[in-house]
Amino acid sequence: MRIVLFGAPGSGKGTQAVFISRDHGIPHISTGDMLREAARNGTEVGLKARSFMDRGALVPDEVMIEVVAQRLEMDDANKGFLLDGFPRTVEQAEKLDEILKLRGAGIDLVLWLEVDDRELVKRLTSRRTCSGCGAIYNLLFQAPKIPDRCDKCGSALNQRVDDQQATAEKRLEVYQIQTSPLKEYYLGRGILKKIDGAKTPDEVYSSLKETLRSGRG
Ligand code: AMP
Repeated sequence: MRIVLFGAPGSGKGTQAVFISRDHGIPHISTGDMLREAARNGTEVGLKARSFMDRGALVPDEVMIEVVAQRLEMDDANKGFLLDGFPRTVEQAEKLDEILKLRGAGIDLVLWLEVDDRELVKRLTSRRTCSGCGAIYNLLFQAPKIPDRCDKCGSALNQRVDDQQATAEKRLEVYQIQTSPLKEYYLGRGILKKIDGAKTPDEVYSSLKETLRSGRG
């Protein structure tokens, strides 16, 4: 299965991707995670990306396409993958299709997690990420057992710079303008499936599983 997990920032893509990747044995490819890691490691791509990420803007298409093309070359992506946070523009989607076409493949399913805008801002500003293992928490509905500590590895929880109110709002605006046209793109290809993302993570995953079952035919 080659799956794209689609939705606004804060719609729960990262949380659901962990479940899908675990149950289907396909790699979870999160471009946001890849860029944050590159930035931490101080690579050229990472440093370039950080200036865009910190102000809630998209990293230029040519950079992203190169990053993803290289990742898809890796062996573990041969039998399928789950893309989280890519594509984010029509140009990225077109390039992705070209890359896959060269291998006689294509995207099988685009799972769209739909969540209302007001709810998204609340979710983003209350999200916390583990500085050690990357686990995601939400102070509203998935709080850690001990405040500011990861349940899994005990490391400190941080708020992403781009989850602060003004930047979160900016990212949602960017999503509406640059990313949401992708719905039409994938609708036209008959592979877009909408899922109500406003429920709890477990409930959303139940719907996703159902869609994955029927989407496979
Ligand atoms: P995310 O973790 O998916 O919310 O991504 C965090 C930030 O990384 C975004 O706000 C963008 O600045 C950048 N980013 C991640 N994926 C992409 C992409 N496909 N195209 C452009 N920028 C991206």
